[in-house]
Amino acid sequence: MNNHNIKISNFSNAETVTYPIIKLTGSVQFDANIFCGISKDKRVILHQNDQNTSTSSDLVDNNFKFLVQLSNGKNLITVQYCCESVSVVLEYFPVVSENSVIPLYVICEDHDGCFQAPAWESNTVESACRRISLASKLLQCVTAEKLYEHGLGRKTFGLDGDCRVFRSSTSTQQARNMGQMELWESVGREIMKSSFASECKKYLAFLSCTKYREDKYDEDIIKTHDDLISITDGYVALGGGGLALFGTACLYTWPENFDDIIAKFEDTTPVNRNQFLDDSCYRGTLGGCFSTTLGSVLHELFHTFDLGHTEDGIMGRGFDNIYKVFTLSNKSGDNPSAFPVKIEFKEEFEADSLVERLKTENKKKEFTVIRKFEDVDDTVLSRSCAVILCYHKWFNQTPKQSSLLSFDPSNKLIKSTSGIRVVEVRSIDRELVLNSWVFDGRILKFSFQLPRIEVADENCLIFVEDTVGCILKEKFKTDRF
Ligand SMILES: [Zn+2]
Ligand SMILES: [Zn+2]
Repeated sequence: MNNHNIKISNFSNAETVTYPIIKLTGSVQFDANIFCGISKDKRVILHQNDQNTSTSSDLVDNNFKFLVQLSNGKNLITVQYCCESVSVVLEYFPVVSENSVIPLYVICEDHDGCFQAPAWESNTVESACRRISLASKLLQCVTAEKLYEHGLGRKTFGLDGDCRVFRSSTSTQQARNMGQMELWESVGREIMKSSFASECKKYLAFLSCTKYREDKYDEDIIKTHDDLISITDGYVALGGGGLALFGTACLYTWPENFDDIIAKFEDTTPVNRNQFLDDSCYRGTLGGCFSTTLGSVLHELFHTFDLGHTEDGIMGRGFDNIYKVFTLSNKSGDNPSAFPVKIEFKEEFEADSLVERLKTENKKKEFTVIRKFEDVDDTVLSRSCAVILCYHKWFNQTPKQSSLLSFDPSNKLIKSTSGIRVVEVRSIDRELVLNSWVFDGRILKFSFQLPRIEVADENCLIFVEDTVGCILKEKFKTDRF
């Protein structure tokens, strides 16, 4: 009988990933009556390969959580608590895929590339690129974990190298005078005229010249988030098509180095609104800014992968708490036990059949369901969103495959020669997902009759994705009851 039963819950030995930063979670079960006398503090230690350095995690409700930066090839990871340890070997193989994302730092013609930051933070072009590269890898990790939570495997988008500088021919003043949509169009047009232009790439771009106009800040007048945005020139957070574009007013709250990630999320230093933009969803802290802005980057990047909006979760406004994916959730004082039922089961399982499912599903599935209770955060992805990503061309290495995908508006019949995977009815204005149907089983669905649906507006969008990632999106009139 072990004194402390250490369990890694989300990875098993010899698993392989295609992205460099992973999240490792697990638990330590111990009998309070057994006292081995070695450890007094409840900290779990992680050793990687034969490095002399180690990292530690608090044990919160018997759970631990680590971010691990993997080296190419095999990585021996040992988790130790008190007198015991467990090890797994995880392999990291970066996959060079044709369809990938290029992180870019956009510098205007006459701008020095230094982003707005306090004196003690580095704000050079190199620093910006390091922060953007690191964040891009964190987003690969979140995406993979979210798909894994849906039982779809650890799929994620590929990065075409680290962040690179893009010299724009727009002047700083021109850029600062533009609205969000104008900036998105302007930067997008310039990229597609440059040497970076490719139909196989999506661009995750950040504009260096964003400027929070501290001289315009007056705490009696400027109160809401919209007010703060209105005094930030070159503010942008917009994604779609091939480009997700962001301002850099909060880039200084992002970590530059892997070792600083958790500390940056947990930084409770108040934002000085007399000098910097507070984009923290009213939390007012530097950690809140990092979490909200990183979450919004993921939201916008997912728009470039054709996701619409959902009522809640990442594709709603539920991206502010992305820190919970990486840190132990109850550090924030929230009650994590309030979330599981609401989030995890409303789409996947009928409430009354859940118990039956738990009994009859095979071992792996059962394990998946149990695991969800152990590590739950509120950065959720709806089932149809997750399945869209899973079959998306940017999430698969398969060579260009094609299929015939069609929708007949007269009889509302959808057909695909490779098999339909996701059907969504979205509103036209916000692309809010009103209804969705998912076919992710092994039996292919070659045609689907869209049922009559109850919607407020008869003008809707139909969105369909099939097995090879072909996408159909068009306006149609619903047959209402
Ligand atoms: Zn012990
Ligand atoms: Zn959106």
